[in-house]
Amino acid sequence: MARKIKLTRSVEVAAEVDVLVAGGGIGGCPAAVAAARAGAKTMLVDRFGYLGGNMGPGMFSGGVLHLAIEQKFEQLQRLFGISGEFVSRCEAHTDHLLGRDYFRDSQVVAYVWQRMMEESGVDLLLNACATDPIMEDDTIGGLIIETRSGPVAVRAKVTIDATGNAEVGKRAGAEMLEGARYVHPGMYFAIANVDTAKYLAWLPTVQVSEEDDKWAMDVQKTLGSWGSGHMRNLFPLMRQAWRVGEYRFIKPIGTIGAVTVDHGFYKPVRDIIGGQVGVADSNLTSDTTRQIDVGNHRVMQELEQGCRQYIFETAQFMRRYVPGFENSHLHMISPYFHNRGCQGMICEYRLTKEDAANGARFDDVIFQDYTNEPGQTYDFPYRQLVPKGVNGLLATGKSAIIDPPSNRARWKMLMLGEVTGAAAALAVQQDVTPGKIDVHRLQAILREKHRHPLREV
Ligand SMILES: Cc1cc2nc3c(=O)[nH]c(=O)nc-3n(C[C@H](O)[C@H](O)[C@H](O)COP(=O)(O)OP(=O)(O)OC[C@H]3O[C@@H](n4cnc5c(N)ncnc54)[C@H](O)[C@@H]3O)c2cc1C
Repeated sequence: MARKIKLTRSVEVAAEVDVLVAGGGIGGCPAAVAAARAGAKTMLVDRFGYLGGNMGPGMFSGGVLHLAIEQKFEQLQRLFGISGEFVSRCEAHTDHLLGRDYFRDSQVVAYVWQRMMEESGVDLLLNACATDPIMEDDTIGGLIIETRSGPVAVRAKVTIDATGNAEVGKRAGAEMLEGARYVHPGMYFAIANVDTAKYLAWLPTVQVSEEDDKWAMDVQKTLGSWGSGHMRNLFPLMRQAWRVGEYRFIKPIGTIGAVTVDHGFYKPVRDIIGGQVGVADSNLTSDTTRQIDVGNHRVMQELEQGCRQYIFETAQFMRRYVPGFENSHLHMISPYFHNRGCQGMICEYRLTKEDAANGARFDDVIFQDYTNEPGQTYDFPYRQLVPKGVNGLLATGKSAIIDPPSNRARWKMLMLGEVTGAAAALAVQQDVTPGKIDVHRLQAILREKHRHPLREV
């Protein structure tokens, strides 16, 4: 039997746009709005039916986002430009800082992005998967998109890879970072109908013995997992359940890794308690390097199924064993299963840990973050968004930013997404490939139109 089948097919050109954004997540949404508001005819494609990526379907609506707003930005108070507008508009629908209530806020995130897309004139193509790039030599001219009605072609002057996994770049032949980086996949879930007052009153009364701690540590070492300390107060009950074979608080998934509620359970909101599971690789070599093969869909499927099964079993354990959970039930598991780190594209410049620590300065600065020294910043260069090896392409979000992990925090992804959209629109206006735009003009646009507090170069 032949090992390969050659595909040749004619595909209808459904649209011709200036800017095509693949991925409507944290980086892709502000990119599309920024490009459209700058006058570019813009289309955004996402495989889900609703927007927000990690903050929408992912249900991780805040995390470092509200920490950034509260702490790091003391002197700045808010995010800026489209990112700031997005956060403010979300908070007009909540009675708290965005991200305090993951479960509720993720719906607000999806709603607000949808409204901002409509108002900016972004053409949305949802429940649609970006697949093969349309290539002419080493220039990308759009994408083949699988829709419910079949495949269509969308031609574009500039394509932005905001898939969170460099899926477009990889198929287009961009230079890819070899080996997975800090993969650490995770998933959010919520248990409802919890008597949260009873649970919270019980928690501090728990006596965790030395044997309980030792037992948990031994399990952790054997299975190569981490982070289970968040559940320390549950160790005595988990130990009981483990002894009778009812529940494994760290559970292997095949030979790939082990899952646990590594971020613990979150502060309850009304009768709902959310939690986050994470997978650690079984060949864990260091805290930041894990070897899960994220490019292998079978591996990712096995992990996702393993996580879903484990979450169900965790909810059952909580119901059977934990005070306050007697009448509880598993309410939902996020449809989004993703990695914190991933495969990414090698761009014209790759920021390093040292750059971040030493306050690096670049002439093509397009964003500034804070070092650990009070008041000191370091620059993100525009080259960090320009993939090597493919023309007509920009990368944003996790597809572009690989190291160090703190650079992929949500608030930075939002701001950089916005920068990417502005750059794509400028490339269209200047009729050049994104790598050749006038970066000083981009910097001026970011300062004047987006109100980003970018230093003068
Ligand atoms: C489990 C987990 C926990 C995290 N915790 C934190 C935290 O506490 N604080 C923090 O600041 N950051 C955290 N992060 C990091 C942060 O969320 C990411 O860096 C950020 O989401 C990256 O944005 P993105 O736009 O690249 O990806 P995403 O937000 O994931 O968006 C990617 C989008 O692309 C779409 N897509 C993918 N492939 C295709 C395709 N082929 N066709 C069409 N659409 C496609 C997806 O549906 C999705 O909407 C976490 C990440 C994960 C995965």
